[in-house]
Amino acid sequence: MKTIAGISELLRSRRASAAEIAADCIAAAKAKNPELNALVAITGDEAARAAEKADRMLSAGDAPELCGVPFILKDNISTAGIATTCASKMLENYVPFYDAAVWESLKARGAVMIGKGNMDEFAMGSTNGTSYFGPARNAVNPAYAAGGSSGGVASAVAAGLGAYGIGSDTGGSVRLPASFNGVAGLKPTYGAVSRYGLIAYASSLDQIGPIASNVSDLAVVFDAITGRDARDMTSRDAETASDKLAGGIRGMRIGIADEFFENLSGEIASALEDAARALEAAGAVRVSVKFPRLRDALPAYYVIACAEASSNLGRYDGLRYGHRAAESADLEDFVARTRSEGFGDEARRRIMLGTYVLSAGYYDAFYNKALLIRRAVRNDFRRVFETADVLLTPTAHVTAPLVGAELSPTETYLTDICTVPVNIAGVPAVSVPCGTGKNGLPIGAQLIGRHFREYEILRAALAVEAAYGGTAI
Ligand code: GLN
Repeated sequence: MKTIAGISELLRSRRASAAEIAADCIAAAKAKNPELNALVAITGDEAARAAEKADRMLSAGDAPELCGVPFILKDNISTAGIATTCASKMLENYVPFYDAAVWESLKARGAVMIGKGNMDEFAMGSTNGTSYFGPARNAVNPAYAAGGSSGGVASAVAAGLGAYGIGSDTGGSVRLPASFNGVAGLKPTYGAVSRYGLIAYASSLDQIGPIASNVSDLAVVFDAITGRDARDMTSRDAETASDKLAGGIRGMRIGIADEFFENLSGEIASALEDAARALEAAGAVRVSVKFPRLRDALPAYYVIACAEASSNLGRYDGLRYGHRAAESADLEDFVARTRSEGFGDEARRRIMLGTYVLSAGYYDAFYNKALLIRRAVRNDFRRVFETADVLLTPTAHVTAPLVGAELSPTETYLTDICTVPVNIAGVPAVSVPCGTGKNGLPIGAQLIGRHFREYEILRAALAVEAAYGGTAI
């Protein structure tokens, strides 16, 4: 795996140029992608141009830390002039004419994009099984799934195709694949990072976040992309993290809620126990807390996410951009054919579910009830944070499933039980590797914090990382 600090050091000591590093990453991507399917596009020309610019910035001196450092961008983040497909047939040939805010910020810092990360179609999924381009595979063992939905980014980072990646997390899509591939992933506070140019899935839950091989790199990328952007009204200036990482966790209260530890396999339970002990050894204190609404959070999430998706995906009608049906009898038939052909099974299932829960007569029974549960989940967090500073949970109850494992939609949705409450409440959370299962697959610990306290969870994650020492590939 590559680290931002490592590459930055190579560049600053002049032992390698950004052009050389980019060329190495592009060659590695071409060699490994046929097996991993982590990238839906390898952006060689863009990388060469960006690396040349980065080398000029580096020679001029005072270049930002990310200058010349290669990275992977999830393919639901808009890149002007470069296809942005959401891993859907609907957008297979869609080329945006504007850049997403995060891509703009990274480009200004001299970042070098190696490729666009494979993902579940429209970010709907937990295994990468819904990608129109076939699933991204796990970098630790390609027989297993990379996870979803930012699985391509996580697998590419774990395989060293870039030093970090940018994903999106609506219900766990940064943290879950990070944990499956043995890398670190941060879901920032709702509003901490501009979503301008992120193709929307469920707008009240969507957030952009970094995936990297270690925790301090997450902080560096977070600092580069956080802040208010007038084009995303939910965004605001937040505290930076990398300047506050060194503070340690002496006296930090780590909450453990039994609800998150029910039905855990022995190996995940013991990896989490090791993480808790590592936190205590670093000076934190363990406190017991309650999270009674955990079980209700999952159905509430799927009602809210599908409702918002049904509305956001209404724009794909074949008239303005995206896939269009070749033949049709009239306008209604054209839109119906376009949408039936362009969306895969899972996107269609969610549009139908979302339309159903919003329809007259069912709105109160489903959608309004989900909003009430949302408030109850937020209250659970409020109570937790009265006695704890950070909540420690598994990132998932399972390690990566096999590619092609026949999971029912409900089984797949259950993978998200530990991650969705975080999005429902809008709080930040990080997944950090904390062990390896018997089959060699990584296990992740999740640390959840108060709104806009990214630095607190990252400090705790550093302590877990220091004790565990990482996954070897
Ligand atoms: N697996 C969850 C879902 O399918 C979360 C996806 C995400 O965070 N984008 O909705």
